[in-house]
Amino acid sequence: MITYRMKDKIYINLTNRCSNACDFCVRINDTYSEYNLWLEREPTAEEVIAELGEMKDASEIVFCGYGEPLYRLDAILPISEYVHSKGKKTRINTNGQAKGIYGEGVPQMLAGYIDTISISLNAADAQSYQAVCHSQFGEQAFYDLIEFGKECKKYIPRVIFSIVDVVGEEQIEKAKQIAQETGVELRIRPYIK
Ligand code: SF4
Repeated sequence: MITYRMKDKIYINLTNRCSNACDFCVRINDTYSEYNLWLEREPTAEEVIAELGEMKDASEIVFCGYGEPLYRLDAILPISEYVHSKGKKTRINTNGQAKGIYGEGVPQMLAGYIDTISISLNAADAQSYQAVCHSQFGEQAFYDLIEFGKECKKYIPRVIFSIVDVVGEEQIEKAKQIAQETGVELRIRPYIK
């Protein structure tokens, strides 16, 4: 399934690739909610746009997927252009590891295309992050995602760090400190099984 709707949002599933292998990742299941999100091949931007159509009653189009959407920067840019041409907003939910994947410069490339970017903290220090997320970039992934958030603030109207409420009080407090130091909004969200 390439696109699916939940309430007034349309979610786009561009890839199953990811630089993390999180302990809690829903990719270990075949389905998310009632949707089967395993892709036999990654969709083209044209295929996604054709499926989106007029996006009636949708308030926001979210790039998320069963993997890390920024692997599909090639598709995100033209799809976002189309979404904006229809007067709708765009958001990316990311693990924030674009620097490890591409090197520098991704936040600049998203300027004008993405309205909100939500970066999953998952933990509030590098060791704890790596212990649950198992990034291919090692503990550096955590430092990179913090920098990525700071850099995104220069180019994207709304930047969010998100963390689940089950990580413990100490981690939540550290996350609040990171948010304060970086000036990035923090969203503490409930853990969804
Ligand atoms: S970052 Fe997201 S898609 Fe990637 S392994 Fe973790 S939960 Fe799964």
